[in-house]
Order: sequence, then structure tokens, then C-alpha cells
Amino acid sequence: MTQIAFIGLGHMGYPMAKNLLNAGYHITGYDIVPAALEAFVKEGGVASKNIASTVQNADIVITMLPEGKHVKSAYEGSQGILSHVRPNTLIAECSTIDIETSSLIHREAEQKGIRLIDAPVSGGVAAAKAGSISFMVGGQKEDLDALRPYLEIMGKTIIYCGKAGLGQAAKICNNLVLGISMIGVCEAFNLAEKLGLDARIFYDVASQSSAQCWSITQYCPVPGLVPSSPANREYEAGFTSAMMLKDLKLAVNAAQETSSALPLGAEAMALYTLFCGNGGQSVDFSGIIRFLQGIKE
Ligand code: NAD
Repeated sequence: MTQIAFIGLGHMGYPMAKNLLNAGYHITGYDIVPAALEAFVKEGGVASKNIASTVQNADIVITMLPEGKHVKSAYEGSQGILSHVRPNTLIAECSTIDIETSSLIHREAEQKGIRLIDAPVSGGVAAAKAGSISFMVGGQKEDLDALRPYLEIMGKTIIYCGKAGLGQAAKICNNLVLGISMIGVCEAFNLAEKLGLDARIFYDVASQSSAQCWSITQYCPVPGLVPSSPANREYEAGFTSAMMLKDLKLAVNAAQETSSALPLGAEAMALYTLFCGNGGQSVDFSGIIRFLQGIKE
């Protein structure tokens, strides 16, 4: 039986691991937060005490961590993943991180004969629970092919983007659009209300017209319109505003590196910086509608 190690059992990692457990796989998990590990054990997972013991017998390792610095510390050093996995282990690094850290981990894995893909995901917590997230993958195509049966349990769409790091490039560009579109949708709903237009009627129009986008139809920032929206649960994350700010910073940094114009991306980053600085850090990123309405967190 394939042995899977899962590191990072947060908003996304926990439901992803749960889908693998439900498919009958044996999974050893690790998270620095004890409550996250307890929830995983309740679903049938085996808790581990540290990264080394989590990965030492694994055929497959999946990591789902917040930022590049967490990924770097989990992979490198004498206690890190790359020092304790067996050669030929397959690794899917699914966090959304900077291309530089992703490329570094790729190089270090390759030097040790370890097969790694960057496979960041899209779709949010609801899609992670439903097993319908999208994976965007960078690395060797044959490594993706070997990991595909496991990714297919957690997701619906798997797109090969090219060489190492290009999965992250796709994810950074995707979330650049998401951050900008969420702010645009919030502005439109606020203006509609000020103009006396009922939110439900504007939803019916926008969701079937040229404004249609994921931020409206799957994640509407106004309560009562889309059942899966965090707006219906006081903007409980979901995808925190701190995470969205992180992703917009990744886009702005990547744009600077490549001399790409990013005026709306920079503006979206400035707005999420203000929102996070005013208490919005742990609020779902769609909660920026309240900031634009002048409501204090
Ligand atoms: P999260 O903060 O809920 O989960 C991350 C988990 O990693 C936490 O439980 C944390 O305790 C754990 N962790 C941190 N350092 C660790 C370490 N060294 N060893 C073991 N565990 C460690 O974050 P999330 O929302 O699940 O997001 C994870 C990644 O997925 C991020 O890069 C995010 O940008 C991306 N993502 C999130 C969503 C979403 O909707 N939440 C959607 C797509 C992509």
C-alpha cells in the first residue's frame, strides 16, 4: 500500500488529506498546530511528532504550507524533508510561494535524486472539501504522471504548465486576477446599493452578463446570494486576507523582476495592506467589502 506523508493540515491541507484518507490511503501527517493534528487523527490519519518521522517511510509527500519561508524551513536542514525522504520519493509541493524558493527546492531535490513537482492549487476550501480543486503543475512531466492518480483524488483539473516553477507562475498570475476581481466586485455591489439597486437583482444581472466571474458566482462578497460564500458566515476564512496580500506581493515582486507593468495589481496590494493593517488579516479576503464600506473590524 502506498505510504503518503502530508505536511500542513490547515484550511486546505486538512480537507485534501481527508479526501485521500476517504479513498483508503494510509497517511502520516504533521502540523505544528496540535489542534490541526487532532482533527486529522479523528479522520483516521496517523499523527507524527516531526517532519523527519513523517516522511522517512513515505512513497509520496505532499506539503501545503502558508509561505515560502515555511516551505524552506520544512524542506531544508538536518531535520528537513529533503534530508529524510528516500531517494526516488515523489513530492507534490502544493503551497503558493515565490518562484525563487520553489526553484531552490526543485534544485535541491534534484541533487538528491528526489522527484518533486510544484503543484499549487486553486478553488478554495469548498472545492478542497469537494475534491474539485485545480492543480497547476511545474516540473518533469513524468513526475506529474506518477502523481496524477493521487492528485485526481483531491482535484478535478490538473494542468501541466511546464518546467520547474511554472506552476507557481500560473498560480501567482491567477491570484493576481482574483485579488483585482474581488475588489472590483465589492466596489460594484457597494455602488449598486448606493444607487438603490437590490443586491439580489444586481447578482442576477452580473452573474449572467459580462461581469460574470468566480468572485461573483462562487464567492460573492455580499451575504445571502451564494450559499458557499464566507460572506454568509461573517467572512470566516476560507482564504484569509493575509494570504491574498501574500499572493499580491508575490505578483508585484515578480513584476518588478521582469519589468512588467502591474498598476492594478499594485493598487490591489495597497488596499489589502490597508485592510490587513486595520484588523482584517484573518478575515476572509472577500471581507474587504466591509473595509470599502468603512466598517471597522
Ligand atoms: P493555513 O494557514 O490554514 O494552513 C497552513 C498550515 O501549515 C497550518 O495549519 C500551519 O500550522 C501549518 N504549518 C506551518 N508551518 C509548518 C511546518 N513547518 N510544519 C508543519 N506544518 C506547518 O493555510 P491554507 O489556507 O491552508 O493555505 C495553504 C497554502 O495554500 C497557502 O500557500 C495558500 O496561499 C494556498 N491556498 C489557499 C487557499 C484557500 O482558500 N485557503 C486556496 C488556494 C491556495
